[in-house]
Amino acid sequence: MTSEAQSVNLLGLNLQELEDLAARCGQPRYRGRQIYHGIYVRRVRDISTFTDLSRDFRETLASQQSILYPKVEREFRSRDGAVRYLFRLADDQRIETVYMPEEERTTLCLSSQVGCALDCRFCFTALLGSRRNLTAGEIIGQALAVTTAQNVPRGARLNLVFMGMGEPLLNLPQVAKAVVILADPRGVGIPLRRITVSTVGILPRLEELALVNARPKLAISLNASHDEQRSAIMPINRKYPLADLLRVCRAYPLRPWEHLTFEYVLLDGVNDADDDARRVVDLLRDLRAKVNLIPYNSGPNLPYRAPKFERVVAFQKILTERHIPTFIRISRGQDIFAACGQLSLEGMDARPSAA
Ligand code: SAH
Repeated sequence: MTSEAQSVNLLGLNLQELEDLAARCGQPRYRGRQIYHGIYVRRVRDISTFTDLSRDFRETLASQQSILYPKVEREFRSRDGAVRYLFRLADDQRIETVYMPEEERTTLCLSSQVGCALDCRFCFTALLGSRRNLTAGEIIGQALAVTTAQNVPRGARLNLVFMGMGEPLLNLPQVAKAVVILADPRGVGIPLRRITVSTVGILPRLEELALVNARPKLAISLNASHDEQRSAIMPINRKYPLADLLRVCRAYPLRPWEHLTFEYVLLDGVNDADDDARRVVDLLRDLRAKVNLIPYNSGPNLPYRAPKFERVVAFQKILTERHIPTFIRISRGQDIFAACGQLSLEGMDARPSAA
């Protein structure tokens, strides 16, 4: 066996790449399919246990390749059942993944990048700055490592949301590659309609996403009701202002069963007035949209507060009265810094601003 550092990680390779690998080793291509099945369906992690491959081939493979999940460095357990996993990657970078069990289903919140470049003023991941994109293997690895640790069986009702660290559309090639394998019934097997990518709306990438075959559902982080307000809390709005964002949303090819989800973080005294709600109604006119209101999750070093709950309900009422289905999303895992926007390696002395 070569050391882990030298070997190539098979996790993240797609069917074609594994078939090509088998062919390069002088094996029939279907051997690649067996490896694909082994990694993503049987969740084999030790190449020597691929007993459906010949011993020689297994040994050749094991001398150059391995199947490496990201390593769990720490787990933080919330009173409400959510678990935040801190993973260490092969280059010692760290990312976080959140496991949220509910009665009827389980949701995993995946990271797509180490840190984030977008600098949204209310988000703790922004404090890390931009570090690097995750590979498809590191994205799939989060799902496999957490479902293995939590004994979530294949076929269980599982939702994946790309709402952890990072902006998925700034890493679209690797996110899209991961989604193909995650959604493939012969791969990890999580139906596409249970996978959601959340974005601030990187418009050229949204137009690209509209064209991909294995297309997950889409959530847009709206978070404001007019340009000045949105630019103040989300600098990316200066590049892609609301009118352009909503034009691309209107042209987005929704499938018959699908809604566009708009997320709206409610910040006390910033974007939570009745007038804001009325402007959101105007913005979303003519869209098959649903809105998730997220009362702000607080933490150290940021100046915002969540509105009083009555304000959240009043905001919701204005939207529902105008026939926009609107839900209040009570964040899970706030006590362990696992809630929306709180992923920032808190408690690991890894935040530059807090170190
Ligand atoms: N970059 C992507 C995905 C990560 S953030 C995006 O922006 O959509 C996932 C959601 O958490 C976004 O809707 C974001 O607006 C929200 N969020 C960020 N910080 C938050 C905070 N402190 N409290 C509540 N929600 C927050």
